[in-house]
Amino acid sequence: MKKWFAAVLLAALVLTGCGPKQPEAHEAQLFAMDTLMSLRIWGDEVLVTQTEDTLRSLEALLSATSEDSDIARLNRDGTAELQPQTADLLQQALDCATRTGGAFDPTVYPLVCLWGFPSGKYHVPTEAELTGALAHTGPQHLQLNGAVAALDAGCSVDLGGIAKGYAAERCAHQLEETGAQAAMLSLGGNVQTVDSKPDGTAWQVGIADPNDPSSAIAVVRFTGSKALVTSGDYQRYFEQDGVRYHHILDPQTGRPVQNGLRSVTILADSGTLADGLSTALFVMGLERATEFWRASSDFEAVFITEDGMIYATEGAAPLLTDCTFTELKR
Ligand code: ADP
Ligand code: MG
Repeated sequence: MKKWFAAVLLAALVLTGCGPKQPEAHEAQLFAMDTLMSLRIWGDEVLVTQTEDTLRSLEALLSATSEDSDIARLNRDGTAELQPQTADLLQQALDCATRTGGAFDPTVYPLVCLWGFPSGKYHVPTEAELTGALAHTGPQHLQLNGAVAALDAGCSVDLGGIAKGYAAERCAHQLEETGAQAAMLSLGGNVQTVDSKPDGTAWQVGIADPNDPSSAIAVVRFTGSKALVTSGDYQRYFEQDGVRYHHILDPQTGRPVQNGLRSVTILADSGTLADGLSTALFVMGLERATEFWRASSDFEAVFITEDGMIYATEGAAPLLTDCTFTELKR
């Protein structure tokens, strides 16, 4: 009789999905850093509020458009004493500029403004306007000594190509330190995971189809803590006279990059590195970017080209599913 009762109870537990319970994730969405962010955090609910607070405070430091940020003060006054996190990120942005031969350039803001991206008052510049803005662009115009930054006259800083990756990385570290079991943070095209999913399945992150960004052209599956960041020509753009002008600018020409790439996805341990490199490798184009990857050992990449081809580096290839692709060898 007892055995019969236990068997029925067990069947009932299995059918109702009870039994050893998986912890539930807390979810939240917020709009910050000019993008929709979603958070999934396994652990105490207070970790969600903590992460939201961190994102808001980083936005308040790093945004080029909000009046009182460190970066806005630097751009307005030409010099500023920065909070430690701003100085930390600015140094990493300068390092990224050096490493990528200027393909990533934190001083592109005069060009970004000329095209009207921050204001939404879009404008296709004349050659003379471009020449003028290019004269005020280049990492040589920015000095950082400890916490004090200084810009040459007429120059300005934009961390939009790296700040979300930095924010995701900071939040991930904070979640690790404060006892989160696991997390997936998705800040626009910047995804950062903390640890592995508690139910033992892989993290799955879609890479957007550049022709239909609401659907995935491929899916990356992985476990553990990782950053996965995509830069694409479809994320922010305007159209004029049938031409599409997007938001990733070639610091050499001052114009939106046009080299046959539609998007670059970087996988790395560091969110900051992944974000900086996703922008930089987009600027480089497939060939230069592949050479750059061959000379590096701290990231993997997936490229999508205008002709619809997908290229995955050797370390990214085993993680890529739901698509046909060409593998890039070392
Ligand atoms: P998103 O911000 O859409 O995630 P990216 O990380 O590629 O995409 O960053 C693009 C942003 O970076 C632009 O909106 C602009 O503010 C800035 N930016 C544009 N071109 C460059 C560049 N060559 N180097 C560094 N930052 C850039
Ligand atoms: Mg970037």
